Amino acid sequence: MLKDIYIILRNFLFDLLFPCCCLGCGAEGSWICQQCLKTIDIIKQPFCSECRRSTSYGEFCDRCKKDFALDGIFICANFNEGVLKEAIHQYKYSFVFDIGEILGKIINGKLNYELGIMNHELKFDMVVPVPLHKKRKAWRGFNQSEVLGKVIAKKSNIKIEKKILVRNKYTTPQMELDRDRRLENLKDVFEINNVGIDSYQSLRTIQNKNILLVDDITTTGATLEECAKVLKINGAKSVWAIVLAKGK
Ligand SMILES: [Zn+2]
Ligand SMILES: [Zn+2]
Repeated sequence: MLKDIYIILRNFLFDLLFPCCCLGCGAEGSWICQQCLKTIDIIKQPFCSECRRSTSYGEFCDRCKKDFALDGIFICANFNEGVLKEAIHQYKYSFVFDIGEILGKIINGKLNYELGIMNHELKFDMVVPVPLHKKRKAWRGFNQSEVLGKVIAKKSNIKIEKKILVRNKYTTPQMELDRDRRLENLKDVFEINNVGIDSYQSLRTIQNKNILLVDDITTTGATLEECAKVLKINGAKSVWAIVLAKGK
């Protein structure tokens, strides 16, 4: 009861401070209105994220797959201009936590579309958000991938594992680096969590499991690939990733 009142009050104050307007056209009421939602360029012909040859679901093509621990990347939309780009930007850099809910719905819609095409032959055992370093999480106040992961977990009824994977090194944001430096920057950044819980527990949880990594955007895919490597070396059966968009 008290908690409900708190949430109502918090939302009321939040709306006063930051009235919710569509980031595309300014219409009041939601961060992305129905009209602008339709303008988002959802990818209907998936491709290999390395060479862009078209593939059935966004898996790596036969030529590229041997070079990757990741099995494939589901990319929701093209990231040219428009409301999605604005929404991701506001979400990530202006700390508008609320936008995560609608972005999460977009990402969950894409996931179910792809799994439907696969006839639900692939079943994910868990959603793993790409972790932030604790310093960056403290600065932003939330992990943007975790918020998206929670929406997927809730709507698609898959459990979320937020503590399995940790980011132990504080690194320069990938966006600020060229490709070679991005790879170097990520070396040994991610680990299976063995602090606070016994490490065997983490290992048991991922053993022989199908894992879905979640992130907001990908550029070269290097971050997702590093996470996938760690998960696979430690026993995961398959590791796919889903992102809102592929940036440059
Ligand atoms: Zn709009
Ligand atoms: Zn390829």
